[in-house]
Amino acid sequence: MTSVLLSAAIAVYSVIAVAANLAGPREPLLLLWLAAPLSTVIPAVIATRIVLTPRFPRPTRRFWAHLAGCAALCGVAAVMNIVDAIGGEEPTQVLSPWTVAVYGVAVLVLLVGMFRLPLDASGRGDRLRVALDGGTVLLAATVFMWQFVSAPMLEASGYHATQLIAVGFTLVLELVTVFAIVKVAIAGRAYVAAPALRLFAIGLIIGVLSGVVQGLTVDRPHLSTAQFVIPIVMICATAAAEAQLRATPAPPRRSTASQRSYSVLPYLAIAGVDAVLICVAWPHADLRVVLCAAVALAAMVVSRQITTMRENAELVDRLDHSSTHDPLTGLPNRALFNERLAAAIAHGPAAVALIDLDDFKTVNDTLGHGAGDLLLVSVAQRLSESVRPQDTVARLGGDEFVVLLVGVGADEASRTAQRMIGALAAPVLAGGHELLARASIGLADNHDGGDAGEMLRQADIAMYAAKHGGGSDVQCYTPGMAGAVAHTAALGAELEDAIADGRMVLEYQPIVELDGTLIGAEALVRWQHPERGTLPPAEFVPVAERTGAIVPLGEWVLRTACTELGPLTPVAISVNVSARELSSPGFAERVTRVLEETGVPPHRLTLEITESAAGTVAPLSELRRRGVRIALDDFGTGTSSLTLLHALPLDRVKLDSSFLHGAAGVLALAAASGLEVVAERVETAAQATRLAELGCHAAQGFHFAPPMPASAITALAAPSLSR
Ligand code: C2E
Ligand code: MG
Ligand code: MG
Repeated sequence: MTSVLLSAAIAVYSVIAVAANLAGPREPLLLLWLAAPLSTVIPAVIATRIVLTPRFPRPTRRFWAHLAGCAALCGVAAVMNIVDAIGGEEPTQVLSPWTVAVYGVAVLVLLVGMFRLPLDASGRGDRLRVALDGGTVLLAATVFMWQFVSAPMLEASGYHATQLIAVGFTLVLELVTVFAIVKVAIAGRAYVAAPALRLFAIGLIIGVLSGVVQGLTVDRPHLSTAQFVIPIVMICATAAAEAQLRATPAPPRRSTASQRSYSVLPYLAIAGVDAVLICVAWPHADLRVVLCAAVALAAMVVSRQITTMRENAELVDRLDHSSTHDPLTGLPNRALFNERLAAAIAHGPAAVALIDLDDFKTVNDTLGHGAGDLLLVSVAQRLSESVRPQDTVARLGGDEFVVLLVGVGADEASRTAQRMIGALAAPVLAGGHELLARASIGLADNHDGGDAGEMLRQADIAMYAAKHGGGSDVQCYTPGMAGAVAHTAALGAELEDAIADGRMVLEYQPIVELDGTLIGAEALVRWQHPERGTLPPAEFVPVAERTGAIVPLGEWVLRTACTELGPLTPVAISVNVSARELSSPGFAERVTRVLEETGVPPHRLTLEITESAAGTVAPLSELRRRGVRIALDDFGTGTSSLTLLHALPLDRVKLDSSFLHGAAGVLALAAASGLEVVAERVETAAQATRLAELGCHAAQGFHFAPPMPASAITALAAPSLSR
């Protein structure tokens, strides 16, 4: 801003100096000339700053490099001009050919800069449109200049050959300038900030029209228009450069067809030529009717064309929209996202958040695609609501979404991602089901200079890291992440193969009354690994919980246990359920379906949950209403609080034997709440006796029986187990 004020001050000084010299020259004449070269320094410096600002795209920086060059050359030419003007005996307005040449080169540098601005025209049709628009304006300008400049000049000089060449030359030069202005007006928007473009145009127009005040200098050899026109034009250049520097380069949005098709310039040109026509022909009374008809016709054809263009533009916009947007959610698709991401990176800092829903597949598989679609639509809506208008939320396909955060670093991106997790947390009502949309989010930014592909790859790795951490989490990409993710992912994938290839087996551990009577069996999963032998659940269940493989694994365990022990087994079946399974969409429905398909009555199934499931009560209550029994596992090993026994819909609590000292309290509370207590991991007769004294009715542990194959359980089931 101060630079604009400085430029203005220099210009004001130059005007005052010229005014003071109107009556006659005042010594020293150098003071009169000082402003011109000085004024060129400021825009040259500011334009150079734009050139050195990496956040501007290349074409922008190139354009301003030309402007800086032009200003600098003007400065040099102005100094040479001073030497020509006051270096001799008498002040003169005659310029040396060298000075004229340097002024010429300055103008040329500017014109070339304008021509080099890339056209925002992508196809042949686009280029034709720009050519026709430009042609219309040029033709109109030619008519004007011919009518008001060239023809009068030629008439006055009596059509001399030399005069003819001079007129032709000026005409061509001015037309080139007009063409450059038209080009900037049509093409400039993409790369030069709009306010800068306007100021730039004003400067050009002042420069072109400066001939008008030429009269002032007639008979005053010490004066020259350069003394004040240069400083005035330079205010515009300074202000334009400042406006460009201030502009935050928002990534250029793909312009819609309706924005692309209109340029008012050609219509103004037609109106202008019509005006000339009226001026010239009106005095001829016999032509007036034809004249009015011609002008009216032109107006009608133009209106007709504008209407058609508007309709076409709407149609093209609709087609454009469907080729760049996802039909289900209405969000931009991958193609449009990539385009915006590339543009954003070219303009400066940007971050991407890759969002993948946890366990979405089970929604589709369990509740059907209708429910899945509803969930996706509401996720799209919530994500869009948690970002700023300049950000882009897109759907990459399936349950994968991505958000482009413009001009944002890692910290802010991370806060936005947390906000998104929060926005998704509220349950979604889809087809009569309350669904929880949990999501894993991976973040990456371009601070290390990565391109669009690299950013998406990094966000993908971070997203998997978030998923492997158990989901519903945000992770920012770090270079070491890929290895860890690959390891967990490999184990997770191996695990899913193992389920499919039948390498998972179940053992059953009897649950007995303290007198030894068999009342149930707990299914415990083992992995018969081809290289590492039989693996206990501690080796792979945590990984499965992290990768989500626990969901298919759990369903396999449930189905296998219900099939192997069968509907007729007198023993109740206990199956362990992880928190991750419980919160996976459609869990209650899946359990119900397995029970129906295997014919096991619901009251024969007990689901063992741990306190980490306390957050997901709804599916438990649902299943319990259908008759399934719920047990709280491992009570006494964690932070187990007695309040849990009230908070959860329970039928049974499994008490760890290491917690025997607190057993009396639990047993009393359980009795009061109508809960059954099963003591776990009972290893010695002493423990069994103590439990009996405390009034515990059932137990499980090596003291009674170890985990065993299904056949052994069915054999035991007929006579009751006695020890
Ligand atoms: P849990 O549900 O508490 O299962 C009891 C664990 O205690 C079993 O270990 C069992 O072999 C062991 N155990 C039985 N009697 C005794 C004893 O007298 N002393 C001692 N020290 N241990 C005894 P396992 O089979 O290694 O299973 C460990 C845990 O893995 C289970 O603990 C359960 O939380 C989980 N798990 C097992 N199968 C599944 C499954 O299908 N799904 C899920 N989500 N988790 C499972
Ligand atoms: Mg258990
Ligand atoms: Mg247990």
